[in-house]
Amino acid sequence: MKRSKSKPKQKISRDAVVSFLDKTLRTSEIGDSSVNGLQVEGNQEITKIGLAVDACLEAYRLAQKNGCQMVIAHHGIIWNGIKNIRGPLLRQLDFLISNKINLYASHLPLDLHPTLGNNVHLAKAFGLKGLKSFGVYTNGVHLGFEGTFSKAVTLESTGKLMKEKFGSPVSYLPFGPKKIRTAAVISGRGSSALAEAVEKKIDLFITGELIHESYHIALEGGINTVCGGHYHTEKSGVQALGDLLKEKFGVETVFLDVPTSF
Ligand SMILES: [Zn+2]
Repeated sequence: MKRSKSKPKQKISRDAVVSFLDKTLRTSEIGDSSVNGLQVEGNQEITKIGLAVDACLEAYRLAQKNGCQMVIAHHGIIWNGIKNIRGPLLRQLDFLISNKINLYASHLPLDLHPTLGNNVHLAKAFGLKGLKSFGVYTNGVHLGFEGTFSKAVTLESTGKLMKEKFGSPVSYLPFGPKKIRTAAVISGRGSSALAEAVEKKIDLFITGELIHESYHIALEGGINTVCGGHYHTEKSGVQALGDLLKEKFGVETVFLDVPTSF
């Protein structure tokens, strides 16, 4: 009987991954309430990396089960600094430190990245053409994109497409034109950019979720909205990072799928 030799796992250094990510995502250049970069230091030697939308215990448990020494999350655990280490944060840190799992976070740098970002994937999934920056965040930094459909679409057809491409439950606000020619996209919670879309007379606002107050802004602004879920519209960024790391370092990667109901 022939014994099949298992291929040795590719070992890489944590510091090499961190500096590659910091450079690729321009981590230090983009202001954010998330403290982006390596948030929790674990093993220096990496053979497998887990990608998650949200840093949470369930994702860490999955990472440990899959043999990952690093988790890269879109929503990390340190926002505007640390005020105390209690409750859920303490339990998360305890798990990560006890299991020597590194946690790297990339919030806005990943949202707005021109090729790896959640927003460019969303715009491309809808086939938007002539993409321009949209959704001013600060000092000329934009998070999303606006563009045009090559032929007019309906609100229902965009919802169907969202469900097909992102696997998400869809909700609408049908307050704009029936024939939709232009759209703006913001992944995750796009509420703060809705007024900009109204001002620019865009036909459709595509996002993950909206807050309560957005209803009247959309109604009075005469704009359609389609929401595909915060979680689902922000999976593609970390997945693209996983593919890039696999290609660059030959390291194993796994998507840690822990959907929320948002
Ligand atoms: Zn988000």
